[in-house]
Amino acid sequence: MIPGPTPVPEKVLEALGRHPIGHRSKDFQDLVEITTKNLQWLHQTKNDVLTITGSGTAAMEAGIISTLSKGDKVICGENGKFGQRWVKVAQEFGLEVIKIDAKWGSPLDPENFKKILEKDYKKEIKAVILTHSETSTGVINDLKTISSHIRNHKKALSIIDCVTSIGACDVPVDEWELDIVASGSQKGYMIPPGLSFVSMSQKAWKASEASNLPKFYLNLKSYKKSLSSNSNPYTPAVNLVFALNEALNMMKDEGLDSIFARHKKHRLAVSEAAKTLNLQLFADENHLSPSVTAIQIKDIDAEQFRKTIKTKYDILLAGGQDHLKGKIFRVGHLGYINDRDVISVIAAIGNTLVELNKISTEQVGEALKIASFHLKVT
Ligand SMILES: *Cc1c(COP(=O)(O)O)cnc(C)c1O
Repeated sequence: MIPGPTPVPEKVLEALGRHPIGHRSKDFQDLVEITTKNLQWLHQTKNDVLTITGSGTAAMEAGIISTLSKGDKVICGENGKFGQRWVKVAQEFGLEVIKIDAKWGSPLDPENFKKILEKDYKKEIKAVILTHSETSTGVINDLKTISSHIRNHKKALSIIDCVTSIGACDVPVDEWELDIVASGSQKGYMIPPGLSFVSMSQKAWKASEASNLPKFYLNLKSYKKSLSSNSNPYTPAVNLVFALNEALNMMKDEGLDSIFARHKKHRLAVSEAAKTLNLQLFADENHLSPSVTAIQIKDIDAEQFRKTIKTKYDILLAGGQDHLKGKIFRVGHLGYINDRDVISVIAAIGNTLVELNKISTEQVGEALKIASFHLKVT
């Protein structure tokens, strides 16, 4: 139960085992046509959604280098490991970064974006780059409000890392007028790592005309051009596209609202149960990510705790990154996760705390009771 790679359904695994087909064949073009339509459904958009062979970082980098130019001024939101990564990417490509940060565990304050964007009379800010669900801390940023401030600026593009929010909670790309949205296959999509996705608005394509940053493999214009004939500029991970097709069909069968409701109840069950187990949530309680719950653990080494849970219950939890290593552990509840997984992980965490003499067995019962209450609500 880590926030990626996430569990993969049997049907999707079976699709991976098929013999590859030619990526210029009619059969593959048919597949690209249908997966692209279904990706647009998932993103709630009429914009182009392009599929790249590469991980989520490739999709974000592609969005940045395909639309911006050397020396462009950009705002980067930074309240965790991934926000930090986008600052590094932007700086690496010679962009001028204005950082808006928040303490790890806290959300970004939309007012800070509003202030800087409103003061930019000369319209020098070319993009706002930020992470919707910050997987490293379990925080979800208020993208709806921040995107409204970006829209009011009119000039700046929004370049959003939705890697652990697409397929977990509502991200209405057209309604919020998000220009560039990146995500990756090993997260909410329920398929192994290797593919990533990026949606591009008309405004983003317009910006791409003037972009002068160096690029070749990740030049999104090439992807757009070949997509017009349901094709790819280079050989894609054909078998992962088989898997993508199965996974998107499963998601369509479940329906967006049900998928979001399932993630919400799992988020509530895990976070409420953790509190009942005398554990503290690392993230601000009003901004909990639908995909991952970060839990603080005092007087116990979180790495040792994770190891015990892996050995005894065969459940893999994620650790803390950087200064959070040993201080927090993270429970992923993203993608192909069911109520049994959630009940099991709560019982495993609870029983391990009992064995460490930190809590009573009654508290484990209480935690499971609270979890059951939330799981009942669909
Ligand atoms: C997983 C993840 C990414 C992408 O990481 P890759 O290893 O490149 O797939 C980006 N942002 C967030 C928030 C993530 O959780």
